[in-house]
Amino acid sequence: MINNEALRCLLCKKPKCALQGCPVHTPIPECMLLYREGKLEEAGELLFRNNPLTAVTSLVCDWQQFCYGHCVLNVKKMPVRWYEIEQEISGEYLFRHKLERRTRELSGKRIALVGAGPVGLSAAVWLYEAGADVTLYDANPRMGGVLRYGIPAFRLDKKYCDAFEKMFEAAGIVFHGGVEVGRDIQLAALSAEYDAVLLGAGAEKPATLRIPGDEKAVQALPFLKDPSAFSLGKKVIVIGGGNVAMDACRTAVRQGCETWVYYRKTFENMPANPMEVEEAKADGVQFRVFQAPVEVKEGGVVFRDCENVVPEDGGRVVTRIIEGTDHFVECDTLLTAISETPDFHMFKDMPALMNEWGWPDVEEGGRVKGLSNVWVAGDFILGPKTVVEAVASAREAVTAILAAL
Ligand SMILES: Cc1cc2nc3c(=O)[nH]c(=O)nc-3n(C[C@H](O)[C@H](O)[C@H](O)COP(=O)(O)OP(=O)(O)OC[C@H]3O[C@@H](n4cnc5c(N)ncnc54)[C@H](O)[C@@H]3O)c2cc1C
Repeated sequence: MINNEALRCLLCKKPKCALQGCPVHTPIPECMLLYREGKLEEAGELLFRNNPLTAVTSLVCDWQQFCYGHCVLNVKKMPVRWYEIEQEISGEYLFRHKLERRTRELSGKRIALVGAGPVGLSAAVWLYEAGADVTLYDANPRMGGVLRYGIPAFRLDKKYCDAFEKMFEAAGIVFHGGVEVGRDIQLAALSAEYDAVLLGAGAEKPATLRIPGDEKAVQALPFLKDPSAFSLGKKVIVIGGGNVAMDACRTAVRQGCETWVYYRKTFENMPANPMEVEEAKADGVQFRVFQAPVEVKEGGVVFRDCENVVPEDGGRVVTRIIEGTDHFVECDTLLTAISETPDFHMFKDMPALMNEWGWPDVEEGGRVKGLSNVWVAGDFILGPKTVVEAVASAREAVTAILAAL
């Protein structure tokens, strides 16, 4: 039965949902039409070619920020839920798709992809279909990146990552799992061996609280990678207000822990998707805002109250700590999820390639200045973003690689 949402779509000539809202410019009106006509296979193919991770992004995108929030019907507060239709089409199509050589542009070219997350998976599809011999390297034993080792299974079924593994194996794409570039093999060696190298190594290095005792805290990313390896005790405090914090607290609560999120600003300032905050509350997670940690002690954390201050000149509101408000809050485990950055240790022997902030210097399209056949994409160069933005960035890099080779 057709989803009535498709009938509400106005099929705009200049669709803001696709052109302004979606980082990969999903051809929404074309797919809506195909869907209405019952041409699901064609719609699936169109979506997959544009964004090989469409089955995933239709589930995990923050739609309010992207397509849904840009729908022209938003003025009447009735935007079309395109993502439901996208999931209906792509959620099944992915398991039927077989990779094929569509063009021969990169025939005879050997390309290495470092990182088998959204960047590596989508770039592998496009580069293979352009004729290249593709080899993937990942420090983790299996493909998926954050999709497999970060986002919990109750939000994203791992069958989508499995589907890529099967599809790639059938196509002869080689995967070297458990191989860390910079440790097991050097970037210079890859650059010498392959015609092009694309680095999509994500942003996995967690920031620490930088307060006394912070070594007692457990980082959320390793916890999310394998929650069963951690024994959290009865009461857990999670510090942070982003997606990682929400996934960590919702995972802890599923382990039977009394779980609290402490955040130094207000709910409106939380970078997490508001829907996820609501879902965490529905799961039973409790929140305390305006709380800044100042010391981690045995058995708990010392917090200090914060408040918002509106400058008299009407400038930007600032959150400040209120001295003299220290209070100790007991917990068995403190999980921190404050932010992550890329780990550039694979560039350790090439300091000249880094800019003043310690990041690789890149030109448009993502090519590393000074390494003529190495490109970067996704969280590795953007910092922590989203799946769909990683795919968009991979597309930019693939376009640049096609042009260069
Ligand atoms: C817990 C969590 C929840 C999230 N939830 C959402 C969400 O709901 N919606 C959304 O859109 N986005 C979400 N994100 C963000 C999103 O997952 C990322 O933006 C996206 O995965 C980035 O893709 P990527 O390919 O750049 O990197 P990643 O997915 O991080 O993949 C990088 C891969 O590179 C590998 N690697 C790293 N270093 C090396 C090395 N030296 N050698 C070999 N391999 C290496 C890693 O093992 C990893 O597999 C979330 C992120 C996290 C951490």
